[in-house]
Amino acid sequence: MANYTPMIQQYLEIKRQYTDAFLFFRLGDFYELFFEDAVLASRELEITLTGREGGGEERIPMCGVPHHSAENYISQLLQKGFKVAICEQVEDPKVAKGVVKREVTRMITPGTMIEGKWLHDKENNYLVAITAVAGKAAIAACDLSTGEMYVTALSTMYRAMEEAMQYRPSELLLCDIATDELKGKGLPPHMPVTSLAHNEVNHLAVDEQYQEQAGSLEEASRLAINALLQYVGQTQKRALSHMRTLNCYVADEFLQMDPFSRRNLELTETIRDKSKKGSLLWLLDKTETAMGGRLLRRWIERPLMNRQEIERRYDAVQALQADMLLRSDVRVALDHVYDLERLAGRISYGNANARDLVQLRHSLEAIPKLRKMLLATEEAALIEVAEEMDDCQEVAQFLTETLVEEPPLSVREGGLIKEGYDEYLDKLRLASREGKIWIAQLEQAERQITGIRSLKVGFNKVFGYYIEVSKANLAHLPEGRYERKQTLTNAERYVTPELKEKEALILEAEEKLVELEYQLFTNIRLEVANHIPRIQELAERVARIDALQSFATVGEERRFVRPTITDEGDMRILDGRHAVVEAVLDQEKYVANDIYMNQEERNILLITGPNMAGKSTYMRQMALIAVIAQIGCFVPAREAHISLIDQIFTRIGAADDLVGGFSTFMVEMLETRNALVKATPRSLILLDEIGRGTSTYDGMALAQAVIEYIQEHIGAKTLFSTHYHELTDLDKKLKGVINVHARCEERDGKLLFLHKIEEGKADKSYGIHVAELAEMPIEVISRAREILSGLEGKEREPQPEQLSLEILWGQEEGSPVLQKDRKDAAPVREENASKEVEPVHEETRIVESIQVHSDEMDVILELKDLDLNQMTPLQALIQLSEWNSRLRKKK
Ligand code: ADP
Ligand code: MG
Repeated sequence: MANYTPMIQQYLEIKRQYTDAFLFFRLGDFYELFFEDAVLASRELEITLTGREGGGEERIPMCGVPHHSAENYISQLLQKGFKVAICEQVEDPKVAKGVVKREVTRMITPGTMIEGKWLHDKENNYLVAITAVAGKAAIAACDLSTGEMYVTALSTMYRAMEEAMQYRPSELLLCDIATDELKGKGLPPHMPVTSLAHNEVNHLAVDEQYQEQAGSLEEASRLAINALLQYVGQTQKRALSHMRTLNCYVADEFLQMDPFSRRNLELTETIRDKSKKGSLLWLLDKTETAMGGRLLRRWIERPLMNRQEIERRYDAVQALQADMLLRSDVRVALDHVYDLERLAGRISYGNANARDLVQLRHSLEAIPKLRKMLLATEEAALIEVAEEMDDCQEVAQFLTETLVEEPPLSVREGGLIKEGYDEYLDKLRLASREGKIWIAQLEQAERQITGIRSLKVGFNKVFGYYIEVSKANLAHLPEGRYERKQTLTNAERYVTPELKEKEALILEAEEKLVELEYQLFTNIRLEVANHIPRIQELAERVARIDALQSFATVGEERRFVRPTITDEGDMRILDGRHAVVEAVLDQEKYVANDIYMNQEERNILLITGPNMAGKSTYMRQMALIAVIAQIGCFVPAREAHISLIDQIFTRIGAADDLVGGFSTFMVEMLETRNALVKATPRSLILLDEIGRGTSTYDGMALAQAVIEYIQEHIGAKTLFSTHYHELTDLDKKLKGVINVHARCEERDGKLLFLHKIEEGKADKSYGIHVAELAEMPIEVISRAREILSGLEGKEREPQPEQLSLEILWGQEEGSPVLQKDRKDAAPVREENASKEVEPVHEETRIVESIQVHSDEMDVILELKDLDLNQMTPLQALIQLSEWNSRLRKKK
């Protein structure tokens, strides 16, 4: 090793313990980065790379950021998924012998952020741990900024990943699981992942932190929580008093949706640009507080199955929706409540300032009024929440007595504590004030003594207080009393012994004042920290009321009605609407549609109609109404009777997304398979033109087989849209299959979309009309009409096959697995050509037999999810080579 200077040796020593993070090494007013850290950081942050001598043969690469603007740089790195270790000088450089002692005081990682621009008010920031013990998986999720902790056990790793992803974690922590195990199970690219081994974890942490619940937890759940606590301890390096409540839940007790279905229904973000605007969350979010906003998001992500709890929410919403005055009063009261959860987090961290505490006080002061108006309602569901609200008024009172109304941002410059709280502080203030008054009067007094009218008393930072006399008047100055301090061009500055004495008094008092105020302030903060669990519980209640009033406000605005929940397995929705589409339609009005399904007679609706007629919208409308109903909100309809749904699956035909040819079709089949394997009679399945990604007969055969399978083996409620008219005859063969169609009318040779869903099948396809709508050249349109009339009556020829497997994978032979797949998944041409497509049970095997875990498929899925915009060319290259080697290994 080179003969490095002591400081660089110290750096290397520390860096060795933090190999997976950027080490921000404090040097005076800068955080410096060295060696590879510097090279990488200069590129990622676009800052200049320099170098310094460090005793080695070559200059050491170095770059740095000013410590006061470090936050910005740190959050940039975090957003890119990196970790940052903050290494501070832990002794005063003035008194240090040799190299100043330095220590890492905190690690900041994407999942453990507690402040900063990157945290959104209405979004949680979750760190999620995944573990597996003895064949059982578990996940634990925590948000350090609010102190929430959730845990649940799951049957398989696949489910664990699904559940973990539901939190949209900023970072994953794996305990005793190899990252490879998660490949192909929906691990997003670029997800920061940290691994922790079993033996690095303190296995008793959960018993200490969550005494009450620890006993009833399963092994895997315990390990997940312990791993989280371990990592939080390692990174934060301090005890956190706000992580007190543990929420244990059973994932299967909520309505299940896989990540694909969630995305497809646009619950919290749109598919197109991943923005909140245009999502269900966007429509329903009329919350006034940050914690209400976060709770609403959690509700939408986890709809209920428990009828009682759903009805309890309905009751509250009903009371709020019916009483406009109450609703607006509640909203006004909530508007005064700041983010209690994150305030509590900052107090616990010890980085809350006086303004934070004053905000806490204002928030608490708004509670009694809120509580009172809720108690005055006659609605049990509201009264109950109000009764549980502990308004913490003595905390508010305490803050009123201790802190001034408008404290400064800094807690180190005084001006925080109220008069009358601390006797000694008041004495010091008095001394300082009296001194200042004396000085203020000095000018007048000195003018009188000397007779110099232009005499001035002033203050500057270097020389302190002075008496200034212009050169012209020097002669009038009496002898002896004045001591010269500073000479200016036109004037001399003096002090007197008395002035010096007062000045010392003032300065000393002020120094002590600032120190004492800081002391008092930290004590006040500690005192408030004792009440954090109460504040958190209050925050929960406030969030609940906020989310409920949000439902009521939207419900009133958009004419939602209270659904009736039935146990009969019926869905009866009159004049239902897709509330989001309705909200974004400008001039046109949304056409309301009925939906009627039941368990025996009509559980599969086969929807036909031309492109753009409203089939997809109708299907999503059903799913969204189910979700909205099961989060406890009223629904966009004139009348609604619903049965609770346990799972929702949505699958979209690959032809809508032509980017991938065969691979999308494969994905479509995999996803359909998933639905078929997991669905129960209480599930809702939306199959939107599946089978389009392959040749006509293939697609049709598959579509029919899927319908038959659902009907014979599952009995789930299914909405199936298709452009295969041939399928509409199924209603004669299968009980429960009903044809409906999106009605269109031809007027003057043009096609008019009525967006009305009616019973019976569509009379014909309108493809050419749609082409006309798209303003295709008139020659094309009329030629198409000609060809069509020629074709009509004739049998339709099978279409040429789509991209073949070999082309996609670029293999001459294909792996054995693939050949098998290929045989089952894509019947060869001879089979296609046979005109009698008589799907029998054998064909349902097609879907079941697809190998989900084939490595090739994993690669395709990963490729599909890859966000190229987030990658550097180098990262892309690395990814490519990794895939390459995985595929070769297989071969
Ligand atoms: P399809 O799936 O039949 O091709 P979509 O459901 O995608 O048709 O609907 C196409 C467009 O028609 C939508 O983007 C929407 O603007 C409009 N639309 C659909 N349903 C309705 C409705 N019930 N009322 C008004 N406009 C609708
Ligand atoms: Mg569609």
